[in-house]
Amino acid sequence: MNLHEYQGKQILNSFGVNIQRGIVASTADEAVAAAKKLTEDTGTSWYVIKAQVHAGGRGKGGGVKVAKSIDEVREISSEIIGMNLVTPQTSVEGKKVHQVLIAEDVYYPGASEIQEFYMSVLLNRQTSKNMIMYSTEGGVDIESVAENTPDLIHTIDIDPDSGLSDKEISVIADNLGLSGNAHSEMMEFVKSLYNAYSKSDSSLFEINPVIKTSDDKILAVDAKVTIDDNSLFRHQDYLELRDIREENPIEVEAKKAGLNYVDLDGNVGCMVNGAGLAMATMDLIKQAGGDPANFLDVGGTADSERVETAFRIILKDPNVKAILVNIFGGIVRCDRVANGVIAAYKNMKDDIDIPIIVRLQGTNSEIAKEIIDSSGLNFYSATEFKEASDKVQEVLSSN
Ligand code: GDP
Ligand code: MN
Repeated sequence: MNLHEYQGKQILNSFGVNIQRGIVASTADEAVAAAKKLTEDTGTSWYVIKAQVHAGGRGKGGGVKVAKSIDEVREISSEIIGMNLVTPQTSVEGKKVHQVLIAEDVYYPGASEIQEFYMSVLLNRQTSKNMIMYSTEGGVDIESVAENTPDLIHTIDIDPDSGLSDKEISVIADNLGLSGNAHSEMMEFVKSLYNAYSKSDSSLFEINPVIKTSDDKILAVDAKVTIDDNSLFRHQDYLELRDIREENPIEVEAKKAGLNYVDLDGNVGCMVNGAGLAMATMDLIKQAGGDPANFLDVGGTADSERVETAFRIILKDPNVKAILVNIFGGIVRCDRVANGVIAAYKNMKDDIDIPIIVRLQGTNSEIAKEIIDSSGLNFYSATEFKEASDKVQEVLSSN
């Protein structure tokens, strides 16, 4: 589950990580009230107005602006709220901004002495450990640092059982070129950041920039936080942080129906049982020269109701030109799945005008093939995996 910057910062703050303070607002009036409150709380007289959308690069797209008075807070907030923010990380249509974060300006006097660092904590699947990635080159896009000056990016793997030692934390502060007060502040920052990552069951914290202010404070200015979905059962309070306006509407609907669906760019809809088979199916479609429109694992019960729900979800994607059903019938026998597929199709035949290729393997697969072949519907049956993906291409090129 991805969070907005302001929500990520709330989580950081709850674990004692120093953050640039701010208040979220949905209207210009709320933004003005937030700015006044912020001045009471922090003494700041300049503010940063930051669009809250699930995408980075907001600064580049005009979604982060400094306001030097309450009038400017009103003006800039009304400009940003409601805009379609286009950044290097959004589609060309951009993302609609529903909220802004009014944050204290932390680049205060002595701006030349301010340093921007990059720091992320993430799961390193290769080593099965957590990892902190950090660099002196913060504030800019880290991908180009990785490409042009990879030596400036440091990493450290962390065993989740033993955590980080003070010595390791000290090396991080050393590598960031810090000394004195800033060094100990950074050690404190890293310690609390890693603790927050671990306790919140996150799979990613990306803080870009982390800054050192002119008076040697270390603060998180940005926060990209992803909570591991599989841990949400023990973080009931995080559930309300989900903003479905930011999510793909078809994926949201699929999730409600208990289907594992990920929207992709291609034109071949896939209905598969089992995540492994679903991945293999996508590979095969690619190999045959096609392009999968989605990942979809219907799970264990491929009955007609579930198949129909899955068909309806696949068909919401206007790019889909053919559907490949690839189901392994083990305990659910293939003949039952075939009947389910036919029943689902008949139930919605006015809504389907594209060919469907059905491959059922496993128990009673031959009976299933016969059922499909004699249905008289717009179905093509296949027994072998390759045969199925070739058939998809054949059908697509003849249409
Ligand atoms: P992103 O562009 O989506 O990554 O959003 P960030 O939260 O990283 O903000 C973008 C940029 O805005 C930062 O790199 C800073 O240069 C700038 N910025 C953020 N906070 C402040 C602030 O308090 N004062 C000033 N002057 N600039 C800020
Ligand atoms: Mn950033």
